[in-house]
Amino acid sequence: MRVIGTAGHVDHGKSTLVKAMTGMDPDRLREEQERGLTIDLGFAWMTLPDGEEVSIVDVPGHERFVGNMLAGVGAIDMALLVVAADESVMPQTREHLAILDLLQINRGLVAITKADLVDGDWLALVAADVAKTLRGTTLEGAKAVPVSAVSGSGMPDLLAAIQGVLKESQPRKDLGRPRLSIDRSFTISGFGTVVTGTLIDGRLKPGQEIEVLPSGAQGRIRGLQTNKSKLDEALPGRRLAVNISGVDHDRLKRGDVLTSPGWLRPTIAVDVRFQAIAGLPRPVRHNLNVTVHAGSSEVMGRLRLLDTDAVDPGASAWAQLKLDAPLTVVKGDHYVVRAGGATIGGGSIVVPHAVRHQRMHAPTIERLAVMERGTDREVLVNAMQASEPAEFGAVARRANLSPEQAALELDALVSEGLVVPAGQQRTGAGAMFYTLGGWNAVCDTARQALAAYHRQFPLRKGAPREELRSRLNLTAQIFANVLPMLVERGVVADDGVSVRLPEHQPKLSAAQEKQATEYMKMLLENPYAPPTDSTPDEGVLGVLADRGDVVRVSESVAFSKDAYEDMVRKIRGHITEKGRITVADVRDLFGTSRKYALALMEHLDRERVTRRVDDVRVLR
Ligand code: GDP
Repeated sequence: MRVIGTAGHVDHGKSTLVKAMTGMDPDRLREEQERGLTIDLGFAWMTLPDGEEVSIVDVPGHERFVGNMLAGVGAIDMALLVVAADESVMPQTREHLAILDLLQINRGLVAITKADLVDGDWLALVAADVAKTLRGTTLEGAKAVPVSAVSGSGMPDLLAAIQGVLKESQPRKDLGRPRLSIDRSFTISGFGTVVTGTLIDGRLKPGQEIEVLPSGAQGRIRGLQTNKSKLDEALPGRRLAVNISGVDHDRLKRGDVLTSPGWLRPTIAVDVRFQAIAGLPRPVRHNLNVTVHAGSSEVMGRLRLLDTDAVDPGASAWAQLKLDAPLTVVKGDHYVVRAGGATIGGGSIVVPHAVRHQRMHAPTIERLAVMERGTDREVLVNAMQASEPAEFGAVARRANLSPEQAALELDALVSEGLVVPAGQQRTGAGAMFYTLGGWNAVCDTARQALAAYHRQFPLRKGAPREELRSRLNLTAQIFANVLPMLVERGVVADDGVSVRLPEHQPKLSAAQEKQATEYMKMLLENPYAPPTDSTPDEGVLGVLADRGDVVRVSESVAFSKDAYEDMVRKIRGHITEKGRITVADVRDLFGTSRKYALALMEHLDRERVTRRVDDVRVLR
């Protein structure tokens, strides 16, 4: 099944032609039928002589309704450009053609309608005019077929030509992530909410959970129809009516995107390639206010030119669209911008979630160029660089690759050492990756952060892990994966509590060393009642503790290692023999004061050597 979209100036016979082909009147609205004017999109369908089913989206030709036209042509397989023989090419013929060109719709036909109103010579002039107008567009060289909806002449030729064009066009790709840009939503009593649109990039099935963006409303598919017949599964490229439960009709509108939940995020800034259309009266300036059309949606925004101050008619540039409302697009989607009631240009989305750029910045432009034209691999690496470490699913989306393709490329990149997985998981949602450059930068940052820490606290054996985590700006989960990698590569030494540069050793100055020696001497003189008022500097004491020369049992009390071990042994012995020990027992055992005995016992409780039961201690 294929989708055909009409295009062309108002009153050139689009709706009449659709009616002649399908027997259906695409003008649904009463106002349209009364005024004989297409205002909004119309829909009809038919089976071609070769059995191919086609849906037809009939668009309004009036210049006031170009927005509606744009909502309908986003996902068509071919365009049917309608030009009336008596009027030939008119302003909206050109505007619609420019839009088809910007949207890169490169399959199409021209129907020269109302052929009954002119003679053969005139018809030949119109055909020549049309051919000239198509030149330089995606529809250059498209076949033109004269028809009359009144006499029926040319109709079989037109149908045969449509078949020919559709045969040449590729079926739509299945990227495993369905998107349907909603062009209508309504309620049917007894069924509830129904939306219509053309499905691209994936499949939909009844029962499936769905999400509607940008609102994020979630629901479930109750049923699928195409051209009024029920479907068990819809493949990409189908025009669908989707009956959904769980989402109120008033929460839906044209331009919303229906998709599978969880993967797609709306954006408010996109980096784009911008092509100005050739027929513009003046160049397109930086910061122009525009209306952005993508899929069936329409949002206001500003066109920020990144590599120039103005784009001449027919020329192109790099740009960022800053949007006033969220837009739901992926890399590679086409867009059109209008300003002052006229189409001025468009192109393709290169980075769907863009950050603010400095203008006229060569590295930014280079990156955008790679994102647009690079090989899958280059694009993948580029997509990772946007924010490292990068998550598998996010990278695949940014690069516009299917998960399978992305996994394949990543695998190759990892085995070549150009990409470094952050953790054990190497593929699938949640797997994190660094580019080689990104990983080297992490190693450098870790080195610099620790070196700075060691400079600031030369006597500490290392920095708290948390300090390093926050300097690397990583989540706890990612840091837990990254730290062992840093250790493995010899960047960091980790003792389970603190981290340091492997070569770092707390070093005491000569004066501090002297202080330490004197203090150790005092400890030996009074092993069980060591001095608490003439302790060395905190840093020096810390080094002695780190070296294992002293054991600090409280803020103010430290014992020499030998005294401490001796006391622990004797306390254990006492409890083993007597079944328990009191603080007074400890005091007496070592001929010390209650202050030391209490500090020691509280420390041993914390160390889980002893356990306090009322006023006595037992062994744990
Ligand atoms: P649209 O605005 O492009 O959809 O044009 P319509 O289909 O509404 O047609 C505009 C007018 O042209 C109507 O009055 C039609 O009856 C008339 N018309 C359409 N096709 C033909 C044709 O092949 N021959 C003649 N003589 N008139 C036609």
